[in-house]
Amino acid sequence: MPRERVIFLVDVQSFFASIEKTADRSLQHKPIVVAGDPERRSGVILAACPLAKQWGIETAEALWEAQQKCPGVTVVKPHMQKYIEISVQLTAIMESFSDLVEPYSIDEQFIDLTPTLHLFGGSPYQAARLLQHKIQQEIGVYARIGIGPNKVLAKMACDNFAKKNKEGIAHISYDTLPATLWPLPVRSLFGVGSRMSRHLERMGIRTIGQLAQTPVERLRKKWGINGERLWLTANGIDESPVSPRSHDEQKAIGHHMTLPRDYETLEQIKVILLELSEEVGRRARRKGYVGDTVSVGVRGARFDLPTGFHRQTKLTEKTNDGLDVFKAAFDLFCTHWDGEPIRSAGVALSGLEPDHCRQLSLFNFETTLKKERLSKAVDHIKNKYGAAAILRAASLTAAGQARDRAQKIGGHYK
Ligand SMILES: [Mg+2]
Repeated sequence: MPRERVIFLVDVQSFFASIEKTADRSLQHKPIVVAGDPERRSGVILAACPLAKQWGIETAEALWEAQQKCPGVTVVKPHMQKYIEISVQLTAIMESFSDLVEPYSIDEQFIDLTPTLHLFGGSPYQAARLLQHKIQQEIGVYARIGIGPNKVLAKMACDNFAKKNKEGIAHISYDTLPATLWPLPVRSLFGVGSRMSRHLERMGIRTIGQLAQTPVERLRKKWGINGERLWLTANGIDESPVSPRSHDEQKAIGHHMTLPRDYETLEQIKVILLELSEEVGRRARRKGYVGDTVSVGVRGARFDLPTGFHRQTKLTEKTNDGLDVFKAAFDLFCTHWDGEPIRSAGVALSGLEPDHCRQLSLFNFETTLKKERLSKAVDHIKNKYGAAAILRAASLTAAGQARDRAQKIGGHYK
């Protein structure tokens, strides 16, 4: 039998809240929550530190509920830019252990240490302790590490054991699987939500071990491929590789905005579509993609009368130019708009491929190159002086959001 792979799932405890506590030492021993900008109607708990969780505060609940549970809680505004940077820093630290690192979410990343384990003491535990220590030293946050012979067991080792024990490290191997994972209730299995666990319990399947020993045909008959996947997971089977590039393979580049008020006229909406399209073009260029499918979606403002649409169109040539995207998006919008005020809008570019593969059309070769040079110059200025440093005149009208949005990421202040 081939040697078991050595895979870690590294999860930072209370990621956003921990970063805020590292940045401001006076918060160290206080219960804190990170919550969305209250002025923008998005007062939801994005993260709570372990002290706040002791008061029963949970992620995703309303801020006012959290304040009722713990009246003295300190509320900190999110700093998304910083969290993204630290997530990238975390990847870099992990890459000093092995170049097979796959970010799974902003605060969770997989690493395959099979090829390099001998450089770090040779035992998975030793390597995990070393990595945990390095993360604490360099970023100042506490990482929990699940170890397994594949990704799904590493993930379950982390969620079910490393998060609950003192050293923050846990290992599930094929040998220890029946003793560790199988006695747990079926809802502890990765991929089983509360609905599915109720279904399973009704079938008499209460533990992960019982699920693992259910004939796979019975599950396949009931839930198809999904049932088979549950059975594989319960048996700890997962062949998927830790693939560093899986996050670059993009299907679409989109930008969406909830407007601060209802937009009623075509003139106003045109400005917002232009800004969205420019941002999509800029992101596509930054990531090195061109695409030939433009889609536009809007949602109406009336709650009693749900309106809005989502439509797409194909261009004759691949592009990453904001104005090309805008022309297609605006055409689509004019064709399908019912005249009702809109509350949110989004533009996306898909049918992507890396821009170095593009075939330039012989006929507009020169204009394409000119547009590219102009876009590159604008990108350069924005990268150097900020997204609001150079804007189209339309963005300075009352409908424009680009100037305000440049201060924020995902609707949150940087
Ligand atoms: Mg976490």
